[in-house]
Amino acid sequence: MSDTAAVTTASPFADRLLAMNESATIAMAKKSRELMAKGFDVINLSFGEPDFQTPQYIKDAAKQALDDGYTFYSPVPGYPDLRQAICDKFKRDNHLEYLPNQIVVSTGAKQSLANVIMSMVNPGDEVIVFSPYWVSYEEMVKLAEGTSVALVGTLENDYKVTAEQLEAAITERTKLIMYSSPCNPTGAVFSRQELGAIAAVLARHPQVYALADEIYEYINFVGEHVSLAQFPEVRDRVITVNGFSKGYAMTGWRLGYLAARQDIASACEKMQSQITSGTCSITQRAGLAALLGGRASADEMVEAYRRRRGLVLEIVRDIPGFKTPTPSGAFYIFPEVSAYFGRTAPDGSTINNSMDLAMYLLNDALVSAVSGEAFGAPECMRFSTAAADEKLVEAFRRVKASLAKL
Ligand code: PMP
Ligand code: GLU
Repeated sequence: MSDTAAVTTASPFADRLLAMNESATIAMAKKSRELMAKGFDVINLSFGEPDFQTPQYIKDAAKQALDDGYTFYSPVPGYPDLRQAICDKFKRDNHLEYLPNQIVVSTGAKQSLANVIMSMVNPGDEVIVFSPYWVSYEEMVKLAEGTSVALVGTLENDYKVTAEQLEAAITERTKLIMYSSPCNPTGAVFSRQELGAIAAVLARHPQVYALADEIYEYINFVGEHVSLAQFPEVRDRVITVNGFSKGYAMTGWRLGYLAARQDIASACEKMQSQITSGTCSITQRAGLAALLGGRASADEMVEAYRRRRGLVLEIVRDIPGFKTPTPSGAFYIFPEVSAYFGRTAPDGSTINNSMDLAMYLLNDALVSAVSGEAFGAPECMRFSTAAADEKLVEAFRRVKASLAKL
């Protein structure tokens, strides 16, 4: 074989890419779109995205931004007035005082998380990820060559990791812990007491930082949203990530932010300056209008999510073998489905795991959901409840009928 042939057959891709998994949520959504394009009536409950349009007053602000000439690069960490409005939001909603230079606006909460992980995690550092976790956490830690340590909550405790579990998992190599509350995928919400206990553990380990993902803050059915940064003993070591995708139904606009100690914010700004720069100028102006409009539009959407949660739980509780905790926030249900493992499908194939079950439901019920595997919970499955009421009822009627054939 000639040298040229040897070069052309080698993989052109970097080890870091080969080690990485595609986002399972995005992969499943892609599969269902493909089936839909072929004419199948798929109900897509795999993607975690509000089905609502962005409120009109926010769209109007974007149109105005274009007319006002907001077509240039923005400062990397965001326009000063937007950063001030984010500080005002933290004060109003979370009783937290930040200065604008502690805020970094980004191209979605996903980028904010990546900024922090890429800026803070060294190869070999341990990152404790509360499990079940959102799919991208583990992959981002891998990208940074950190070691992710999944700490698994129990079904009996609504999958919430406890302070005792955390204390036992911290080692001298632990750099960061990360979690979402309200949680994607479980919908669990940490109480003040639970987060206070976690803060007390962190207070005893001054080398450990915390990445608190609060993107579902507004979608909360139990009432109080608690931020880890509210505990003074750890406040300086907590990086809070939030964004506009969920609360303001702005997924496509790509707008998120983080708040942190000033040196951490500067580090994230530096990281972002080499990768994307400031996010879209028009989006930022729309985001400013969103914040100035308060949370009334979010509260309306939350009422719909609450109603849908009720509708779905009523059907799902009737599905034999599903063990489904009641979500306290976000817009997912996350049943434990292992009762179906080992069963035989009508075509003779065996359902070995939750991936097989998700594929069976996609093909037989034309309902797409995501296997719990990518969330660190292979015995579970995630269904989004962010869809119209009648679609949800139809979807779970089909799921129930398909499962009855196994
Ligand atoms: N964190 C969690 C827990 C999420 O579910 C998502 C997905 N929307 C994100 C972060 C990223 O959100 P964004 O659209 O702002 O990038
Ligand atoms: N956060 C959503 C989800 O969990 C969007 C998909 C993604 O960004 O991975 O499905």
